Amino acid sequence: MSVEPVIEVNNLNFSYNNISVLENISFAVQKGDYVGIIGPNGGGKTTLLKILVGLLNPQSGSIKIFGTDLQKLKHRSEIGYVPQRIAQENISFPATVYEIVESGLIAKKGLSGDITEEDKQAIDKALEMANISNLKNRLMSSLSGGQRQRVYVTRALASDPKILILDEPFTGVDIVSQKDFYSFLKDLNTKNHLTILFVSHDIDTITTEIKTVLCLNRGLFCYGAKELMHEGNTIEELYGKNVTHIHHGK
Ligand code: ADP
Repeated sequence: MSVEPVIEVNNLNFSYNNISVLENISFAVQKGDYVGIIGPNGGGKTTLLKILVGLLNPQSGSIKIFGTDLQKLKHRSEIGYVPQRIAQENISFPATVYEIVESGLIAKKGLSGDITEEDKQAIDKALEMANISNLKNRLMSSLSGGQRQRVYVTRALASDPKILILDEPFTGVDIVSQKDFYSFLKDLNTKNHLTILFVSHDIDTITTEIKTVLCLNRGLFCYGAKELMHEGNTIEELYGKNVTHIHHGK
């Protein structure tokens, strides 16, 4: 029995102001996969994520989410998205953890929807999943980078997504918290059955964590089981022969 992929990208092309950034990208992500997206700076990783969550429209190609064209997808809330550097941004208003997580329901309910008892349960469940119920009344400004990042993942979880997409989630998270954060993501993948895609520069660690690797350097350089990254594959081979300088951690 063939299983329908949760994400299917075919012949995707994207350019900013006629400058091509993604060329002829095709891949399919199976349910329950845990995909690490790597590639040199400017390789198009963030752009690809933004296209997958519907923030940018490709010039050509198709994207299907659960077999439906992304543009026709009724429930965008099925995809949770944690943008790049969000945990490092200063919040100029005194928001609590609970309020930030609650704002994750806007994708599902719209701005004017009242918060119901069911929504409150969804927020509590997301806080429990992330093991941060004890922080819910704290001000965001009082948290560490790692704790804030966890809050933003929790916000993405509040709408009960099936796919979680994270852009460099480990930036600004200290080394000790990174380990916890990896095990949090792993639990979301294995215990909560979320399909996860994330961009990272931390190539060494992601090889031990992820199931599938996607190397992007304008084109799709490689895509497959993480074993692709072991023996015989130098970084240069993975990223592309023309890459002379790979900068880790922007
Ligand atoms: P990565 O995440 O792999 O570093 P990006 O997707 O951020 O790559 O960027 C890919 C390319 O697109 C880079 O050359 C970048 O300068 C360019 N780019 C990104 N955003 C914009 C934008 N809003 N307008 C024009 N060019 C952009």
